[in-house]
Amino acid sequence: MKKYLLDLTNAQLKDALKHVIAQDYRINQISDWIYVKKAASFDGFTNISKDIREKLGEKFILRALKILKKEKSVIDGTIRYTFQTLDKKQFFAVFLPSKSKNSVCISSQTGCPVSCAFCSSGKTKFCRNLSRGEIIEQILQIENDAKEKIGGVLFMGMGEPMLNFNNLEQSLKVLLSNKEFGIGKRHITVSTVGIVPAIKKLADENYGVRLALSLHAVDEKQRRILIPNNLGFTIPEILNAGKYYLKKTNSRLTVEYILVKGINDSAADAHKLARLLRQNDLINPDVQANLIPFNPVNGVSFQTPAEESVQKFKNILKLSGLTSNIRQAKGADISAACGQLGY
Ligand code: SAH
Repeated sequence: MKKYLLDLTNAQLKDALKHVIAQDYRINQISDWIYVKKAASFDGFTNISKDIREKLGEKFILRALKILKKEKSVIDGTIRYTFQTLDKKQFFAVFLPSKSKNSVCISSQTGCPVSCAFCSSGKTKFCRNLSRGEIIEQILQIENDAKEKIGGVLFMGMGEPMLNFNNLEQSLKVLLSNKEFGIGKRHITVSTVGIVPAIKKLADENYGVRLALSLHAVDEKQRRILIPNNLGFTIPEILNAGKYYLKKTNSRLTVEYILVKGINDSAADAHKLARLLRQNDLINPDVQANLIPFNPVNGVSFQTPAEESVQKFKNILKLSGLTSNIRQAKGADISAACGQLGY
């Protein structure tokens, strides 16, 4: 059986090729073609002999994902990709163009086991974790297809990255490595529903990437409405893990807060959110809140709050010393915005 090359670290690749290629510099050249020059086929490895290229083709698969569908927003140029794995599972990734730096929002699982009540990914059947290769191939393929350099990566697509910790970690290593993708740690964000032990582990590994906590609620009752399967972690435990992450990594923390009309968007909720963050030492320049007005999802009866109440929520946070952004929905015409990555 052929091995999927992107699933292998360079050490594993070296081992797999030891009978074919003896010289280290040749392995480095191959790695360069894969991760730096991003060649889409072995034939593209032009400074590698034909003989070795053929052997690579006999032993390995370079691309395991198929782009099944591609939709481009006429509003803002956002592109939504539907990928299919070799075992015919589907998932999504989104290209987010920007004048300063293009980003991609990638998936870590096909389907999602968490089932947040407001999210269409949660409405899909959970299939499996994506592998190291399947995570990074999304970026390679999008860069190739969109013909644009990608400078930022958001683990905010389908799935819960912290429930696929090993492959998340493997992919972070290759994204951060200067000999591979070379993406700056401040330009990578891992978003989590709040898997406390995994947040602490990521803090201890200290990759320095940004962490986004999908908090969404100011008390447990509210959070259970939004995230019925809250995986057993309380709001104080999640915030405490965020504080630990900040202290260990010197990085930045984003608190994500979806705003759903009549559920968690009142002025009292904004005051409570500020109080909660203050109690956890999280009102400081390294923390910001992302307010995400609910994006409509098929089959979900939640409503988006009026613009004035979103603004009011933001102002209350501001008066309490907390910076916040209101996240603009991208690719709304192609269902590419937060929470719309379902079928
Ligand atoms: N499982 C991770 C990664 C997915 S990130 C996490 O929960 O953080 C997806 C982000 O989009 C989360 O912050 C989520 O709250 C937000 N989101 C999901 N559905 C949404 C919707 N319908 N409208 C607006 N934001 C949504």
